[in-house]
Amino acid sequence: MPAIVLAVANQKGGVGKTTTAISVATALAQLGRRVLLVDIDPQANATSGLGIDRREVEVSIYDVVVLGRPLVEARRPTLVPNLDLVPSDIALAGSEIELVGMARREHRLGYALEGLEADDDYVLIDAPPSLGLLTVNAVVAAGALLIPIQCEFYALEGLGLLTHTIALLRRELNPDLGIAGIVMTQFDGRLALSHQVVHEVRRRFGDKLLTPLIPRNVRLSEAPSHGLPITIYDPGCRGAIAYRELAFNLDQRLRDGAAGAATG
Ligand code: ADP
Ligand code: MG
Repeated sequence: MPAIVLAVANQKGGVGKTTTAISVATALAQLGRRVLLVDIDPQANATSGLGIDRREVEVSIYDVVVLGRPLVEARRPTLVPNLDLVPSDIALAGSEIELVGMARREHRLGYALEGLEADDDYVLIDAPPSLGLLTVNAVVAAGALLIPIQCEFYALEGLGLLTHTIALLRRELNPDLGIAGIVMTQFDGRLALSHQVVHEVRRRFGDKLLTPLIPRNVRLSEAPSHGLPITIYDPGCRGAIAYRELAFNLDQRLRDGAAGAATG
């Protein structure tokens, strides 16, 4: 079976993309799946969050997407068994400009992923908070989106834009792009607003909303500074438990329903 490729994307920053990408990738790997995490954000938060110092990265996603080097040369193991990473680095910051003049500039990551080994089960791509060419590359390469939405007021205002963006991406770039799931982040059950956001997302996206909701949990914000995924930093904390369950549910949904669940 070819790998299921998911772009963790939302044009808003700070909504939990990187936290979700690292946590879900790690939890899937801990379930025994073979997972590759691709960090295509110039901020390289997924890279540092897995304990890799960007200064010692020799071959990065920049070399792959901009210079056309094979993905396998940038791929490296992480501290998590079954989880490999293609790291990002600062050179990627200028790549939006470098890519503009290139042929098939939207497809460069997609082409690179075609060279993947057959034994990967999942590829997760941590996208930057924009709709630039790097995000476009992630979306074009992916079969489906994994969309984190933060339970805050601005999410309510942003939902229309998000729906519009997905329609646009399908029309212009990837007609087969599905929604693998929506991840509700920073949920606080004491706040009416949190419930309101969840209600509104469920109304628009129905069963694309994944369970459980991810609670606001200070351990999740501490883990990256230790270079550890949450399920290793503090396996018993509420954030780790929630992400583990969510990854289990996502895995079931994608494997059972296969194409059906990843589309629509
Ligand atoms: P993005 O990649 O979308 O910009 P991040 O995953 O980096 O977002 O999250 C933004 C900030 O919020 C980070 O400091 C992160 O540690 C913190 N954070 C994310 N999810 C949670 C959560 N559920 N509870 C507490 N803090 C969180
Ligand atoms: Mg991020």
